[in-house]
Amino acid sequence: MSMSYEEAAYEQYMNDLYAEHRKEAIEEFTFERLCSYYSENTLLAKPAFDTLSEARKLNELNPTAGLIFAAIAMEVGLKATLLKPIVHGLVHAESVASLITDLTISHTSMDRYRTLLLHVLQEHGGVDLNTFKRSGSTKTLWEEINEVQKIRNTIMHRAEKASEQNADLALGVSSEIIDRIFPEVVVKMGFHLHDGYRICSDWKCKHKGTHLEKIIDST
Ligand SMILES: [Zn+2]
Repeated sequence: MSMSYEEAAYEQYMNDLYAEHRKEAIEEFTFERLCSYYSENTLLAKPAFDTLSEARKLNELNPTAGLIFAAIAMEVGLKATLLKPIVHGLVHAESVASLITDLTISHTSMDRYRTLLLHVLQEHGGVDLNTFKRSGSTKTLWEEINEVQKIRNTIMHRAEKASEQNADLALGVSSEIIDRIFPEVVVKMGFHLHDGYRICSDWKCKHKGTHLEKIIDST
């Protein structure tokens, strides 16, 4: 498939942007900045978390509606809870961080950014999305994410219907991101969650209701 002039120019712009940022991004990455992003944005997972529970309810009435909401939760969850915090650790400028986060999962020429992000996620978050598979699945999670995006597009652009199987896939994938991977990464950063989404950095919580709490309170 040949590219139009605009597409070629865009591609070139992206390549330049990548070349410009790649080296300093890797050199300047700080774990502290990644952690501080989580501790300063304690509710970053809430929109995706709420959308996922909405998706579960809708799915009982209509799998197509369930799939659309699950696909929203999947993309927003991936961006808000994993990719954006990492980009924030890599790139100091907020505007560039948002741009790269959006492009990573929306534009194919951003494969190299994706590789970079997934590398950092593996190193600091302990999960390799390139090889990670949900239990019982033969495909990688990243392949399943792409599959859900394709089904979502056929619904949005061609008004097709989702099968129950499609909707289950979308719900499974978004739940894997929001209910499993995100909590694991958060724990690895030294935080924990309340109500399934709220990030908490108060280490004393762990001892709530135990005899240790009384000791901590009295000191
Ligand atoms: Zn807590």
